[in-house]
Formats: sequence, structure tokens, C-alpha cells
Amino acid sequence: MKGKVYLIGAGPGDLELLTLKGKRLLGAADVVIYDYLSNPSLVNLARKDAELIAADFRGKRFSDGSVMNQDLINKLIVNRAKKGKIVVRLKGGDPFIFGRGGEEAEILVAHKISYEVVPGVTAASGLAYAGFPLTHRKYSSSVSFITGHEDPNKPGSSVDWHSAGRTGTLVFYMGIENLPKIVEKLINAGRNPKTPAALVEWVTRGAQREVYGTLSDIIKKAKAAKVKAPALIVVGEVIALHNKLNWRKKLPLAGQTIVVTRSRDQASRLSEKLNALGAEAIEFPTIEIVPPKSFKPLDTAIARLKDYQYIIFTSRNGVRSFIDRLMVKKIDTRRLCCKKIAAIGPGTAQTLKENGLLADFQANCDYSQEGLLKELLREKLAGANILIPRAEKAREVLSNSLRRAGARVLVVPAYRTIKPTVKFNPFAGKVDVITFTSSSTVSNFVEIFGAKKAKQLLQGVKIVSIGRITSATARKYGLKVDVEAKRSTIDGLVKAIL
Ligand code: SAH
Repeated sequence: MKGKVYLIGAGPGDLELLTLKGKRLLGAADVVIYDYLSNPSLVNLARKDAELIAADFRGKRFSDGSVMNQDLINKLIVNRAKKGKIVVRLKGGDPFIFGRGGEEAEILVAHKISYEVVPGVTAASGLAYAGFPLTHRKYSSSVSFITGHEDPNKPGSSVDWHSAGRTGTLVFYMGIENLPKIVEKLINAGRNPKTPAALVEWVTRGAQREVYGTLSDIIKKAKAAKVKAPALIVVGEVIALHNKLNWRKKLPLAGQTIVVTRSRDQASRLSEKLNALGAEAIEFPTIEIVPPKSFKPLDTAIARLKDYQYIIFTSRNGVRSFIDRLMVKKIDTRRLCCKKIAAIGPGTAQTLKENGLLADFQANCDYSQEGLLKELLREKLAGANILIPRAEKAREVLSNSLRRAGARVLVVPAYRTIKPTVKFNPFAGKVDVITFTSSSTVSNFVEIFGAKKAKQLLQGVKIVSIGRITSATARKYGLKVDVEAKRSTIDGLVKAIL
């Protein structure tokens, strides 16, 4: 088998600015080598068994003491491709705009490795999130992307300072350290010192920050605001339009970075809602749903389905595993005829519906075992046989109370939640809010980092919980819950965040 390399533009940071093609290829890769500039949650789009390599230049050391540099990245790409792997080299922005994508492609040609390039949204295009159109009929008919990395005073500088000094919008990449020299060059080349200038850090991310000024005062302002890379330097009249066109700041959760701890398969419903409201959602799954240690109890229950009058589902996962298992056993939902089905809340009821089943009971407002119990106790349960396919570990409130009401209750494990391998540190940048959607998301979070470190990481971070039980678990670990959802649903949680 022959390997292949895809140089993919990850976009400027907002996860959803990855192209559809990039997403498809990322999901198929054996190896993903990614930049520090690309959004770390992108690794969640890779296969669970893909090899993930952070190509972080900022002094990253390997266990053998070697430091990550361009040479090593090139070697890694070539090595994996020659082993027959599908390699995705994920680069921030567009792979062929700065950032050495061209050089990486040349090396592949030299090694006769087949490759494709998937363009991305370059950081400068991301400036739409700050409200600057790069060109505008009234203000600017050209835009230049210029490296700010090169010392502008070096003899034979390849930047055409003379023309840059005259017209158009200028966007400098990698220029923060050279800002004073760049400004001086532009003014010397004839650019009016009153020309608007802006610095934009982490464009399109939750951490996006802008500093505004003119060529004459932007250096002072950059110092005062302690602007750091990655940032763009923008010069030109179009900047003035940001007052009118700053659409993103008007979104209710603009500028918020929110960590979502749900399982990978379930996180997107929440993170898409948060993104739509202007936040950056970082998906950091602290639970993973896997099959139970043994299917025997569930299989036995399925074989005796006719004995049960009630089946109670306390989660979407419970429904999914149960239905999946029916299919494995070549049984379909006709076998559920005449049984009463209960769902703990609207999410579980929805999953039942997707499988062609309507719940007969659902908790009213309080989507917890207690809430569901209230509804079920309206029935004559004495002597009834009740099946509860659910997580291996859970509270026994429902089962115990139903037994007390005279029912025969069989609880069978339909799935298990485990701690997934941690793929990146969600706290590498700014985090404003963390969401916990179940007790196990909290306890696993604490276990992943250790109690002391978890508390430290969450200092200054608002903790939002989906409901009473999850909040109690958080408190048990000494975490202070700032907001609790009134309704224990994803929409309820989003409301609480708002
Ligand atoms: N290929 C990338 C650029 C890589 S060079 C692209 O097309 O965007 C790295 C420089 O890009 C950084 O120093 C910074 O100037 C700029 N940059 C990349 N991502 C950025 C971001 N999210 N916010 C601000 N600047 C960014």
C-alpha cells in the first residue's frame, strides 16, 4: 500500500471554518500532524485510533530531548507516508500562505510521495470576524499579505516597501515583534501616519482581541495591551468600518470560550448551539460510551422480552445500545408490542422517536430519576415486571423505589462510560466557561487532572451544570457551581449559560 499526504488548511481558528473536504480527509487519516495555530478540537474529527502529533514549534521537547522543528516535521511526514499511511498535515489558515506549506510539498515531490493540497481560510480572511472587509470600493482596491518576520532593515529585503507605503490594505503575518520597524518603514515610504492600524490576536477564536490605533500610535498601544503572537497587523482605511460591521460582537456569547465535556459522539449538539451564539466551543470529552463488560444480562432480558410490561430508559445511550442489541439479535421493535415505555426526559424520548417508538411516560420538568419516578408511581406497579437497560454504574433511586412499590425490577447494563485518552489540553488558551452534563463528566474531569490541578485549572472559569445531581457531584469535589440549568436538557443548559 502506498501512503499519501494531504496538506490541509485548518482555517484561522473557528473550528467550523474548516472546509468540507478537509473534514472528510481528516476523518480518514491514519496520522494527523497539526500546528499550534490550528484549533486543538480539530483532533476530535480524526479517527479514534489515528496517531496524533502536535507539531508545536514553541520549544516543544520530545522524551529523547530533541526539539520539534521544521526539519523534524518534514522527516515525520515522509517517514509515515513511506510506511504507507494516509497522513494529514493540518496547518493553520491556508497551507500555501506563509507557514512553509510550499516547502513541505517540495519535499514530498523530492521523495516521490503523492500528495494533495486542500486550501483553507487564511488568517487575513478571518478578519471578517473583526468587521474589516479587506477591500472596499470606497476605501481600498488592493490588499497585500506581507511577511512581518523578515527584518525590514535587512539589505535586499524582499518586501516592496515603496508600494506598500502608498495604497491598499496591508496585512502583516508574523509581524508583532517587528512592529516598530514595520511602522517606520511604512511612514518613510510615504504612508500617512494617520492611517488606521489594528492588531488582531487569535482572529476568529473565542480569545480574539483587537487593538486599534493609527500608524503613529499603534506601537504604544500594542505595548500597553501586551499584544502577543499569533496576531495580524492590519493597516488601511477599511479598518474604520469595524464600528459599523462588527457583527460578531453582537452575538450573545461573543468572545466566550466554553469547554464541553460530553462524549465525543454527543458533544456536537451542544457545541453547535454554542458556536451559533458566537462562542468558541472546545470539545474535550471526559467520558466515552463503550459496550458493557458483558452483554449477557441484556441478551437474556431481550430473550425474555415478553415477560416485561415496562421498559424504562434513563438516557439516549441506553436507548441506542438497547436497539443496537435488538438488531444484533435479529429482533425488531415489533417485539415491543404492548409494552409501556418510559423516557427520563425529552432527549431520551427523542432518541426513542428516531427509532420509531413513542414514550408513554416522561418526567415532567424534573428530568431525573426522581422526576420519572413520580410519573411512574401513578401506575399500579404491584407485581409488574420492569426492565431498565442503562449505564453499568448509576444511582439506584428509581430501581429501589419501584421495588418498594411492589414491582419486579431487572436492571441490565446496556453500556458503560469510561475515561477516554486525553488528546490535548483544553486550557492551553483562555477558557471562560466549562459545562458538565452528567455526574460522570465531572468525576472523570477531576480524575483526568487530579483533584488539586482540576481546581486550579477551573479558577476563574464559570462552572455550568445541567442539573441538581450533576451540581451535587461537582460540589462533592469541592467545585463551585456558578449556574445550574433550570431544565436538565441541552437547551436548558444553553439558557443557563446565556
Ligand atoms: N498559513 C497561515 C499563516 C501561518 S504564519 C494562514 O494562512 O493563516 C503564522 C502567522 O499567521 C502568525 O504569526 C500570525 O501573524 C498569523 N495568524 C495565524 N492564525 C492567526 C490567528 N488565528 N489570529 C491572528 N493571527 C494569526
